[in-house]
Amino acid sequence: MIILKFIQERSMMKSKLFTGTLMPLLILVFLAGVSCHRAPRVEAVSYTVAERGVWLNRSELFAPREELLKLLDDLKAANITSVYINTYFRGCVVYPDSEFLPIFAEASEPDVLSWLIPEIHRRGMRAESWVEYGFYAFHTPDASKTEKRGVFLEKHPELTAVDSSGLDHIHNTQWGDFFSLCPANPKSHELLGNLFVEGIKRYPFDGINLDRMRFPNENFCYCEYCKTQFQKDTGLPLKPYPADSPEYKTFISWRESQLDTFIKTWAPRFRDARPGLKVTMAALPPDMMESHGQNWDHWLEQGWVDAAMPMLYGEKGFEDRIRILSKFPRWDRIYPGVDAHGLSPEVIQRQIRFLNKEGAQGCVLWYSGQIADDLPGLAAGPFSQPARSPLSSGKSSK
Ligand SMILES: [Zn+2]
Repeated sequence: MIILKFIQERSMMKSKLFTGTLMPLLILVFLAGVSCHRAPRVEAVSYTVAERGVWLNRSELFAPREELLKLLDDLKAANITSVYINTYFRGCVVYPDSEFLPIFAEASEPDVLSWLIPEIHRRGMRAESWVEYGFYAFHTPDASKTEKRGVFLEKHPELTAVDSSGLDHIHNTQWGDFFSLCPANPKSHELLGNLFVEGIKRYPFDGINLDRMRFPNENFCYCEYCKTQFQKDTGLPLKPYPADSPEYKTFISWRESQLDTFIKTWAPRFRDARPGLKVTMAALPPDMMESHGQNWDHWLEQGWVDAAMPMLYGEKGFEDRIRILSKFPRWDRIYPGVDAHGLSPEVIQRQIRFLNKEGAQGCVLWYSGQIADDLPGLAAGPFSQPARSPLSSGKSSK
């Protein structure tokens, strides 16, 4: 009896031990095992939705490969989302065997895009083809010292934009002389459009970042095509009109409609060339849009472009311009360009904080060669939370 009772008590103890302590422990171990093996691991990282771009200029594009890869690592560490690669400038492209233009003579890599874009993607960032020069087809330090005008204008001299005095280039005291294609002529549109399609088709870009899609200034273009077409469309001779006259308003809206035609015609072709591609643009500040015929808020509203990056360089007037832009209907697709070249890291951080306060969903840093001093502060400050670009998924606006 005594022995039997002992055995019964031992057995009950074991049972109590099992149900009271061991069983829940085993269940926990089992559940832990299930959660380790079956449930997806939940990342502690949370993302904000924002575009954080950097213009990758030619000055860094042809740096030694290890330096460029280090730059990409630094961009990734600072939670940058997109890299806009300089692919077209000074009448050249950065890739070999273009049907239209020569490769940049100082390109130290035979085909930099072939490995650069995969390296950007490998770091979880987007890559856009930044076609920097837009209608600007050629540059030379001094036009009087060379007959060269670049491939496009040497083949098609009639497409050269001229100002109201007949001058065929834009003189910049700091940078020299720039030659532009006539921004109104559909033949210019055709040349650029086909060039841009070539780059998009050849390399796995996530977007095309248009630039200089505008008239050089308010005194262009008075070429033969523009004179004939303006007269035909408006009944007016093409000549400079006083800024407050009705004719001037006609002149402004005629120029805007010429550029509207470019983007309306070609943006769908860019998207057709690579499904999922976003069409974005480096845009003029709001106070310069009218004088250059670049009606980009309308382009955003129409869905012809997916996003615009107005270049708001400098400190003066920055906040006033942002207040104006924040009233634009597609403020959600406006990611201002900030001048990390000219301004200190402290000012850049302050500007980005101001953008955030005004509800901007992104910004782009100008430019790759001048941001080494900015990235650590951004990574610890306004860019501390990882971001997903609003341009990174889903379909284009239209
Ligand atoms: Zn013209």
